[in-house]
Amino acid sequence: MPAEELYEVRQVEVELPPLARVFDTLICAECGEPVMEPRARLQEGRVVCLPCAGQYSRGW
Ligand SMILES: [Zn+2]
Repeated sequence: MPAEELYEVRQVEVELPPLARVFDTLICAECGEPVMEPRARLQEGRVVCLPCAGQYSRGW
């Protein structure tokens, strides 16, 4: 069996990782907007988005 053929078969069998749901979507407790987990902040025990956490106006 030619090596190329073997390679082709293996490629087809490779399963792609699921693309959906990389991050959880949380709901901002302040404005109710959906916010991706890495962009959410905990403020006084509540999940808030960056604008509500005041992190857009504090220069970063
Ligand atoms: Zn918010």
